[in-house]
Amino acid sequence: MNAIVDTRTLDPKKLIKGATGDWEVIIGLEIHAQVTSHAKLFSGASAEYGGEPNAHVSLVDAAMPGMLPVINEECVAQAIRTGLGLKAEINLRSVFDRKNYFYPDLPQGYQISQYKSPIVGEGEVIVDLPESGGQITVGIERLHLEQDAGKSLHDQSPSLSFVDLNRSGVALMEIVSKPDMRSSEEARAYVTKLRTILRYLGTCDGNMDEGSLRADVNVSVRRPGEGFGTRCEIKNVNSIRFMGQAIEYEARRQIGVLEDGGKIDQETRLYDASKGETRSMRSKEEAHDYRYFPDPDLLPLEFTQDYVNELASHLPELPDDKKARFIKDYGLTAYDAGVLIAEQDQANYYEAVANGRDGKMAANWVINELFGRLNKEGKDVSTSPVSAAQLGAIVDLITENVISGKLAKDLFEIIWTEGGDPRQVVETRGMKQVTDTGAIEKAIDAVIAANPDKVAQAQAKPTMIGWFVGMVMKETGGKANPQVVNDLLKAKLGI
Ligand code: ADP
Ligand code: MG
Repeated sequence: MNAIVDTRTLDPKKLIKGATGDWEVIIGLEIHAQVTSHAKLFSGASAEYGGEPNAHVSLVDAAMPGMLPVINEECVAQAIRTGLGLKAEINLRSVFDRKNYFYPDLPQGYQISQYKSPIVGEGEVIVDLPESGGQITVGIERLHLEQDAGKSLHDQSPSLSFVDLNRSGVALMEIVSKPDMRSSEEARAYVTKLRTILRYLGTCDGNMDEGSLRADVNVSVRRPGEGFGTRCEIKNVNSIRFMGQAIEYEARRQIGVLEDGGKIDQETRLYDASKGETRSMRSKEEAHDYRYFPDPDLLPLEFTQDYVNELASHLPELPDDKKARFIKDYGLTAYDAGVLIAEQDQANYYEAVANGRDGKMAANWVINELFGRLNKEGKDVSTSPVSAAQLGAIVDLITENVISGKLAKDLFEIIWTEGGDPRQVVETRGMKQVTDTGAIEKAIDAVIAANPDKVAQAQAKPTMIGWFVGMVMKETGGKANPQVVNDLLKAKLGI
């Protein structure tokens, strides 16, 4: 493995206070991402999630004697696409090795993985930090292809354990970061961004609940300015929130041990989300424990640069490029653009609303009104009751001064619950904004006549005009154009 290089400069804001001074936390992540493919890495069995136990198991996956692995080209293409999305070096020649260990859910007695020669080498991910602001670059050490193991089921019977091999042999990409993160926020933002990239590429669905994306989290601490400390690895964390909690806990634990004069043993730990703590699982195994050797059943994996170029030419627009384009073409802030591009279908929805309209206004409506409402109801844009065409029509009605911003919110609510064509709804419900000065003047006169004391007050204190605006709006059922009301009121009150 390459020597670890510290690419970050010390950020005092990210230090953790211990009893005896400040500490810096160092994090490196190994992400297992399940490859989106129909079949498994070395067999034709279905890679679909779920199903009856052992319904998707070929003789290869069950490791029957004499069965030979055959590489699934689509999984190779997916790994290359991912490497390209991570701006990484693609290795035209890589090697599959056997990683030997013994566990009931691993019928071969070894996992086919890549050790010294992975399919993808060094790359990088640019990560925005939503809470502390700013941006970091996280280095990618490597990406390799490997098989997933099966699953032991211990909760089916009081005295027996069962084995489900549906997952056995499914293709995984192990994406190893450099130890470039310095806080739990940075680690959470990195996984979030990586997940977005994978989903854009269509190479992993990123579904953490189903285990399609899981993280091994390496954590160490050190005094500012010192070399890297001994790390612990927290295995198989399958939620971004839990990962953040595990890092916070683990950093504190290590600081406590060191401040008490102890030392950190390199070990593998588990995060117990119900207790909010990590606990030791086993001492860290070394590479030599696995007795790696090249799999004699598989030739080295070789392809041409033309093949890579062909895949590169069909990649979709990636999140960073889309964000830059949104900022440039629609005049959005980096923050708004970042929110919109987080999911491809959100970005598409936004573009359908913004197309031919004011981009900033479209962004406000999509982010504040639509996303706000979707969140509240646990929906997403794919199940949104208000389509992009309907929201676009609402934005048009405001731009054309047909309805006020306030009435537009009522209109949004009506379309959300009842559907329909916004323009027609405005027509049939008489929601059109009143700009006709005659009608507004009538309402103003009525309010003034009924409140002579307030008139005197407003003349003494012009900010009182707000009270009159409110009354007139009420009088007109919220339909008066607020600017016209304001202008007429000032004239009539002489302020
Ligand atoms: P191994 O093969 O033993 O798992 P690697 O060198 O491949 O070890 O590193 C695994 C992960 O641990 C990488 O993501 C790397 O960034 C991270 N890592 C290495 N050293 C440290 C450290 N001192 N503190 C935190 N993370 C580290
Ligand atoms: Mg490792």
